[in-house]
Amino acid sequence: DDAIISVRDLEVGFPTALGLVRALNGVSFDIPRGKVVGIVGESGCGKSVTARALMQIIERPGQITAGTIDFHRAARAAGNGKQSELLPDDDSELKAAKSDTGGVDISKLDPRGPTMRSIRGAEIAMIFQEPMTSLNPVYTIGSQIEEAILLHQTRDKKVAQQQAVDMLRQVGMPNPERIAKSYPHELSGGMRQRAMIAMALSCHPALLIADEPTTALDVTTEAQILSLMRKLKDEIGMSIMFITHSMGVVAQLCDEVIVMYLGRVVERASVDEIFYAPKHPYTRALLRSIPRIGTSTGTKLEVIKGSIPDPYSKVSGCTFHPRCPEFMPGLCDTVIPVETVLAGPTRHGVRCHLYTEEGQAVKQAEIESEA
Ligand code: SF4
Ligand code: MG
Repeated sequence: DDAIISVRDLEVGFPTALGLVRALNGVSFDIPRGKVVGIVGESGCGKSVTARALMQIIERPGQITAGTIDFHRAARAAGNGKQSELLPDDDSELKAAKSDTGGVDISKLDPRGPTMRSIRGAEIAMIFQEPMTSLNPVYTIGSQIEEAILLHQTRDKKVAQQQAVDMLRQVGMPNPERIAKSYPHELSGGMRQRAMIAMALSCHPALLIADEPTTALDVTTEAQILSLMRKLKDEIGMSIMFITHSMGVVAQLCDEVIVMYLGRVVERASVDEIFYAPKHPYTRALLRSIPRIGTSTGTKLEVIKGSIPDPYSKVSGCTFHPRCPEFMPGLCDTVIPVETVLAGPTRHGVRCHLYTEEGQAVKQAEIESEA
């Protein structure tokens, strides 16, 4: 299988006074090498928690409580051909976390240990909606990128300095030498976003995780950043996991799509299948919320009937049932649907009773009672 990362049955819990709140409830998906996979869903569905789990930067007191995150380091794309210099192949923690498929199970690494620290940034990098999450206001852009390169790539300061300027040029900065000497506050929002991307890509990560990096930008700048990311993906040969709440962004950038709802993956398919043959009632609702061409791509999903339930309130059966137009009483509110993989050349997966045997039996009974 050609996945850079395979997530299986991942659970993330937050202990609270009311008990353990599950932010992720058995999440499984693959990111194929060299592809852009979009993760979509309303805020609170677990997109960011999924991203943070892959980087082992879940906000405390949250933690991974079950599942595996199988990262294929050996399969990483060429880039400059270098893995992190700080992480030898005989690293004992790395050996202990070795998976059956020859990858490393990230969920078994100590989030604050040296092994995870050298994978994070160098092999899996992340960019955020707010660039100041990654950029330090008191250092110049150039010195921050250099520091990342010195940490993971080379110990030669001159080489690092040159690579930092090259990276700024690669992300389309008009005057990279001058930008390198600037401080973050001297740049516009779009420029800061490019600087953050330059920093994230400076170590040629095999996987880039992007958590709504264009949400705060105007439509024109957003389109520029998205096309820049596609171009860099091909040049560097990396995979991208792109988190967004916008189906417009998905259409512009992604090869495959994962739709999440309340801590679960409810549908996963190629971008064409999601747009032309969506199966899950939630996905269909998301698509109906896309504004007409020519208006904004900043889609708001709140137009779907009802609102996302409070995660403290336990919804029985299918968690979408209080909002679902296809709701089947007696089944959808009692039995959690398993994932059905639909027949066909691709592995289109959907978690809904319209496609389970139980659901089809209910539909059959309806037809018979009407006859
Ligand atoms: Fe709707 Fe039932 Fe499918 Fe859930 S399982 S999405 S409630 S039809
Ligand atoms: Mg988020």
